[in-house]
Amino acid sequence: MTRTYLKRATRRPETDASDVRQIVQDMLTRIEAGGDAVALEYARQFDRYDGTVVLSAAQIAAACDRVPEVTKADIRFAHANIARFATAQRATLQDITLEVLPGLTVGQRNLPVSAAGCYVPGGRYSHIASAIMTVTTAKVAGVGHITACSPPRGADGIDDALIFAADLCGADTIVAMGGVQAIAAMAFGLLGLPPADILVGPGNQFVAEAKRLLFGRVGIDMVAGPTDSLIVADATAEPAIVAADLVGQAEHGYNSPVWLITDDETLACDVMARVPALIASLPEVNRLNAEAAWRDCAEVILCDSREELAATSDDYAPEHLHVQAADLPWWLNRLRNYGSLFLGEETTVAFGDKASGTNHVLPTSGAAKYTGGLSVHKFMKIVTWQQATRLGARPVAEATARISRLEGMEGHARTADVRLAKYFHDFDPA
Ligand code: NAD
Repeated sequence: MTRTYLKRATRRPETDASDVRQIVQDMLTRIEAGGDAVALEYARQFDRYDGTVVLSAAQIAAACDRVPEVTKADIRFAHANIARFATAQRATLQDITLEVLPGLTVGQRNLPVSAAGCYVPGGRYSHIASAIMTVTTAKVAGVGHITACSPPRGADGIDDALIFAADLCGADTIVAMGGVQAIAAMAFGLLGLPPADILVGPGNQFVAEAKRLLFGRVGIDMVAGPTDSLIVADATAEPAIVAADLVGQAEHGYNSPVWLITDDETLACDVMARVPALIASLPEVNRLNAEAAWRDCAEVILCDSREELAATSDDYAPEHLHVQAADLPWWLNRLRNYGSLFLGEETTVAFGDKASGTNHVLPTSGAAKYTGGLSVHKFMKIVTWQQATRLGARPVAEATARISRLEGMEGHARTADVRLAKYFHDFDPA
């Protein structure tokens, strides 16, 4: 088996993380000690924002009124698809009631968390779709209170369309705040928010590090690094479309890897020849991101068999995996490691990113080897319960007493003994 690198990355996303942890830890410590005032001070420092932070109902309504009808229709379309998919996910979570022995019943319940904090990134782009993905999924899960936080973009605060999306999808509170201060505000219950039980949503390295450091005190969906995408293409793929798809994902950020894996050298060379012109034709911010991502983080790999293509893809465990090759059922059956899989030329990663129904908050940096992306399940706790009759309690009490004594846990054993004594032997409550 061979893998030939026609283009190799010169940097890994992790290498620029150096002192982020210390910066974020210091910010969290200061915010926890100083509360709202320190969070607002950081908002002024990093986002040069001094406007309203927690949006009022009147501000939300006014923002929604300013959104063009065509935009509203598109957001409603995306929301409907994502809500339908999330509702189907919710239906897979069934409660269990099981009589393991006569008189001894155990069960399992799926309960939503009470409060969720949804981070909607907004530094480079205004991620309207992230609001739809996180808030809708929390709402379908049945979360009690949903906060959506997004950085203000200039003096006007959050984009109107993003406010419309968060409101439509079910956010109870919308907050114009970004970065570590937003994560801290949701986790610590600042600005009048209920403290979040779970924090979800993508973000830059400061946001990701804040979530990672707070994990344990609160739940998180995942630790997300820069977005990454991989295309597996064979000789049947259309080079112009493969090149457009690579460039489309490279614009996410200067450190967003895009990878092409193919068994066709002609296709690889054709695609590589097309990419620079496609990048050059993008608007400036997108172009700068995509140029750096393609130059520093992109890889093009030539493999000598279909199996080797699949094995290489599984090694990368990409966040987004797009197969543009013959025999799509074979690929669906064979591939194991990906956040979300896109099969065939007729779909594209952007469909899933924006509107098709699956979630776009997905595991990055190889985390797809051990987890999937955001789903209704992440907002739910699987909790268990039990109840026994006196008859049902007898065998389990006897076993519990013996196992506890083997472990040296005399107090545990006596909780069983006292019941056996009360129900079946002599019992002296004094
Ligand atoms: P962001 O909202 O994550 O970050 C902006 C915030 O960063 C600002 O509000 C500011 O407070 C903070 N910040 C900036 N510089 C700082 C500094 N020096 N120190 C402390 N805080 C600082 O927006 P972004 O930066 O555009 O990043 C968005 C990220 O989300 C990208 O990496 C993108 O790829 C990712 N993303 C991922 C998905 C996904 O599903 N995986 C979807 C959308 C976006």
